[in-house]
Amino acid sequence: MTYKELVAVYKKLESTTKRLEKTYYVAQLLKNSTDKEIPVLMLLLQGIIFPAWEDKKIGVAARLVLKAINVATGIDTKKIEKEWKDTGDLGKVAENLVAKKKQATLFSRELSIEKVYNNLKALADLTGTGTVDKKVKLIAELLTSAKPNEAKYIIRTVLEDLRVGAGEGVLRDAIVSAYFPSIYGVSDYCINCNKIMPATDKCIECANKLDGKFSASYIEKFERYIESYNNNLKSSKDKIKLLKIKTIDELKHEVLNNYDVILCEDEKQSREAYNFLVASLQEAIDISNDFADAALLAKNKGLSGLSNVKLEALSPIKVMLYQKAADIFDAFEQVSRPAALEFKYDGFRLQLHRFGDKIKLFTRRLEDVTEQFPDVVKVVKDNIKSKNYILDSEVIGYDTKTKKFLPFQHISQRIRRKYDIKELTEKVPVIINLFDAVLVDERNLIKLPFAERRAILKKITNEVPYKIQLAEQIITADNKEAEEFYKKALELGNEGVMAKNLEAPYKPGSRVGYGVKIKPTMENLDLVIVAAEWGEGKRSRWLSSFTVACRDDDTGELLELGKVSTGLKEKAEEGVSFEEMTKLLEPLFEQETDEGLSKATKSLKEVRIKPQIIIEVGYEEIQKSPTYTSGYALRFPRVLRLRADKPVDEISSVLQVEDLFYGQK
Ligand code: AMP
Repeated sequence: MTYKELVAVYKKLESTTKRLEKTYYVAQLLKNSTDKEIPVLMLLLQGIIFPAWEDKKIGVAARLVLKAINVATGIDTKKIEKEWKDTGDLGKVAENLVAKKKQATLFSRELSIEKVYNNLKALADLTGTGTVDKKVKLIAELLTSAKPNEAKYIIRTVLEDLRVGAGEGVLRDAIVSAYFPSIYGVSDYCINCNKIMPATDKCIECANKLDGKFSASYIEKFERYIESYNNNLKSSKDKIKLLKIKTIDELKHEVLNNYDVILCEDEKQSREAYNFLVASLQEAIDISNDFADAALLAKNKGLSGLSNVKLEALSPIKVMLYQKAADIFDAFEQVSRPAALEFKYDGFRLQLHRFGDKIKLFTRRLEDVTEQFPDVVKVVKDNIKSKNYILDSEVIGYDTKTKKFLPFQHISQRIRRKYDIKELTEKVPVIINLFDAVLVDERNLIKLPFAERRAILKKITNEVPYKIQLAEQIITADNKEAEEFYKKALELGNEGVMAKNLEAPYKPGSRVGYGVKIKPTMENLDLVIVAAEWGEGKRSRWLSSFTVACRDDDTGELLELGKVSTGLKEKAEEGVSFEEMTKLLEPLFEQETDEGLSKATKSLKEVRIKPQIIIEVGYEEIQKSPTYTSGYALRFPRVLRLRADKPVDEISSVLQVEDLFYGQK
């Protein structure tokens, strides 16, 4: 596939904020792609080269891109820099300058998606001397062959800032729409352009009004239309194949790939059928953790292929997530009585995998942190009586002298540390609190009730104090007993308690409410830093104020919520220090804006930052605000801690902010 074809889709994605339209454009592209192209497309559509959990980054700074534009166009670096200052967007700069480029385009040839992907992937693998020149060459090579608008998207992808808004939700829906039959009622047929469309008021392609309303008379008309359409065809291979169902169950027994359209009994059932297909795909994605794998299964093996995705130790799966309950009573309402109550340890989540003699540890972002935790590997190896498992746990640091739990901050150093690991292991020892079992002895436990999974976990674990234990748990239906357990949990330095439905399955990747968390405070928000300002006076070497953003769940867009400047410490021992934060953010600078210049004589006060560093933010209140793109602002926000364990797509959503806003009134 040519890169040009993908760029055409990027442009369409950019032209709309409507999720249905985005889904339609991506689905059209997927329909026309080969098995070999799908894995590359899945990444490029999201503007990434590596999945979030792979510990790899393109790692190219804006300066290097400037140089690459210079090499590819022959245009003076100073001029490029000026244009960058004027537009504030290197993608646009590349577009403009490639359009004007002076050099003869002797080497120019049509770019394929594979060529773009391979060159960008190679950027991450380069290390050692001469790396910079080689990187410049890889990017310049692409720019030399690129048409102006292709150059824009190449540069935005290099800088990990594509901004076209094909989030995971859009990709998932597009796979369903591309590889499963359309469901009448959720989709509609545009008689004018002969295409199946999402059932909205007008056709996305020709803007023709769609009849769309699900009614008996319309179905009749629709069937008649298909019949006459088919009758007029010369070859039977082009016929529209219709499947009529009376129950959702029938879908499970059909080879869906044989059909083009599914007709249900009524509109409600159409929705259910569609949701069933989406959920089946989502389940496969959560287990395989790979959009391309899931797309290929849907395309080539249909529903049965999706349900056969195998759970395998050593390959990470998405973790189950929990909803929030206001208090113990609300928790029981949500998970039913009796429920399991457990301590909510304030550490970080670790997925433990073993296959034969190999053990691997993954964070909740599914990053492999096995190297960082040799102590955990040993304890697990010695005390879990199985050689094949995936277990879920919360690991927490403790102080060797006082035996008290350590704040999350201490242990978060261990997640990031790549050197002196042994020393840090001794300084910050950890306790593994096991709370779930997903796979044991090659048996997939996902669908077993929680109580049974916990029993299996107990059977295979040899508990050792201060090393490995099952999460402290009681089973009760009684409010008072539950309240006492909650009080005890807090007194012992835990964050709160979890309440879990005893009958519920393990749902990877979902916040389904099979378990809920109960914590005392107003819920903190996990926000990503998108800009920062240099401090003044004795803090002038440090970044001291941070613009934070939440996420629009539908589009993946980041929406600003305000600036945080309290909570950071002068000294590292007291928590996250200004110095530590500055060091974390410096490699992520995008470009320095001139905002500061116009305000005062001080230049380049604010820097935009690639959204990668997530912080937990506490606050007093949420207010409506026209100043920030989310429409909300935080009163008295403060930085509580770094959330190195969370991926950007799991930060707080604007809907959550909205809920909290209305909840506080
Ligand atoms: P939150 O991060 O606020 O959404 O709370 C859920 C997190 O609490 C999980 O992802 C775990 O990392 C952590 N946690 C601590 N103790 C437990 C437990 N007993 N069961 C489940 N999760 C726990």
